[in-house]
Amino acid sequence: MLKLISDYSTESELGEVAGLFFDIDKEEINIECCFGERLPYITVNGNFYPLDLSDRASDNKFSRRCKAELYRVLSAYTGKTFPWGALTGVRPTKLGYEILSNGEDIVRGLKAYGVSTKKAEVIKRVIENQKGFFPSSKKINFYIHIPFCTSRCNYCSFVSLPVGGNEKLMVDYVDHLIREIESGVELLNKENYEVDSIYIGGGTPTALTDELLDKLLNAIPYDDLEYTIEAGRPDTITAEKIDIMSRHNVTRISINPQTFSDKTLKAIGRAHTASDIIKVYELSKGKFKINMDLIAGLADETISDFEYTLHRALELRPENLTVHTLARKNGSMIKFQNAVFSSGVAEMVDMAYERLTHEGYEPYYLYRQKNMLENLENIGYTLPGSICANNVTTMEEFYSVFACGAGAISKRIYEENKIERHANVRDVKLYIDQFEERLSKKNEFFM
Ligand code: SF4
Repeated sequence: MLKLISDYSTESELGEVAGLFFDIDKEEINIECCFGERLPYITVNGNFYPLDLSDRASDNKFSRRCKAELYRVLSAYTGKTFPWGALTGVRPTKLGYEILSNGEDIVRGLKAYGVSTKKAEVIKRVIENQKGFFPSSKKINFYIHIPFCTSRCNYCSFVSLPVGGNEKLMVDYVDHLIREIESGVELLNKENYEVDSIYIGGGTPTALTDELLDKLLNAIPYDDLEYTIEAGRPDTITAEKIDIMSRHNVTRISINPQTFSDKTLKAIGRAHTASDIIKVYELSKGKFKINMDLIAGLADETISDFEYTLHRALELRPENLTVHTLARKNGSMIKFQNAVFSSGVAEMVDMAYERLTHEGYEPYYLYRQKNMLENLENIGYTLPGSICANNVTTMEEFYSVFACGAGAISKRIYEENKIERHANVRDVKLYIDQFEERLSKKNEFFM
């Protein structure tokens, strides 16, 4: 563990010096960094390391180079490396695209930031699979958030309230949500946005009653678009819900096992079993393209437990499989409970990559989050011809996002890589109480 103890700044004849005292695994070390033009250097406990900071083309690039050099020096000093090297952001693919646009080799370019060859190769393959998608300031994805679930998973940090006891709130929420959707549809038409896809996420949208789900889907006027509903929990999917989604031309759903171990499902707070997943999958198969989320590192799962989950998922062969690494998110129960985590997660993630690519799946989007076990990543895989465009264009920030509902975050993508964000209030009751004033602010954001 690396912990900052104190910092200071001073001057040397080569420029301004920033000094830091860290505790690395209970050993105190002192780092001094001088990033001046003449002879940039770092000292670690007095040992001198000259730096290669020749690329000062922009502040962004320069600070990234500084970080990469700091990582290199600390790695040499401690003997430790991380799969993603000095990269800490959510979207390592963005750096891959930047390297590619400079005419450089992605793998070589990423290695300069300490990224392992294995992970750099994954980025290269993801980018190859995203061919045909480009940034556009006129295209927009329409996102709708349903903050209700049947129970709370112990790793969850999303806005999500239990269905039980909130029946009246759900009715009020859907009424307001429909008003936000209708106002958004009108605005996007007026501003000449081209809606590219619809995504209803959460929470668990299928946790709504049949009547509320039908009413909500009735308010969405777009036809012939990629239209995804994160059905998520198998315990919320019924023949009636499947019928409602089919009638409204939903094209994709997610049925998320997370694991095929009943013991783990119980331990993480999911109110369903592995056989529920199979039943619901059989009911939905052929009516929609199906994604399944799996999580590596749940509870005390071993590598062979995870291998079993992979095997069961591959038997079903959904169009998409998304392999997540467990993240200890702020606000989740596992963070709060100081839970013990399974080891060997890197091996699980590597195994998933090997097995899935061997079985004909291709990695097509990738992102990272804070506090992921072993500093890993989430990867979305697809069978040929089944890419979920929304995942690519939202994750890569190619298109704007018009996001409705409590806690939903809209994004506006401008030309020249400028991005602005607008967040709806997270609290469901406040979302309803302050609806009018907040709606006009949000609409201004898109004008
Ligand atoms: S299903 Fe998703 S949103 Fe609902 S509690 Fe679990 S992680 Fe949170």
